[in-house]
Amino acid sequence: MSELKGSCECGEVTYSVKGPLRPTIACHCTQCRKTSGHYWAATQVASKHLKLVKDGGLKWFRSSARARRGFCVGCGSSLFWQMDGEGTTSIGSGTLDDLPVGAATVDKHIYVADKGTYYNLSDGLPQLDGG
Ligand SMILES: [Zn+2]
Ligand SMILES: [Zn+2]
Repeated sequence: MSELKGSCECGEVTYSVKGPLRPTIACHCTQCRKTSGHYWAATQVASKHLKLVKDGGLKWFRSSARARRGFCVGCGSSLFWQMDGEGTTSIGSGTLDDLPVGAATVDKHIYVADKGTYYNLSDGLPQLDGG
């Protein structure tokens, strides 16, 4: 895949990615619901394929003992998630610009046991209770 660009809403965080994108996974866990206001849908790349172009607004929040979330302090966009020691970065798929149709399409829902009560999932994709 050729290089793709992405950004937060206000533009204080911009990045580019090269290399294969994992299909997007929609996570319905409580942390993802809190951080995004709904559920969080993210693709993933090897961290070495992610280049931060502008990171003035980027702040990392330690969301659990083994993971952290990257967000923009200017606009609150939820951009990244990293598990310690894995060498990968999950990227909120909605922060990518000009994602080609068919690239990084959602292929499953995880932590559905924790999902919000106010919506139904009816897209026919696999639904896992855990991760
Ligand atoms: Zn921003
Ligand atoms: Zn989650």
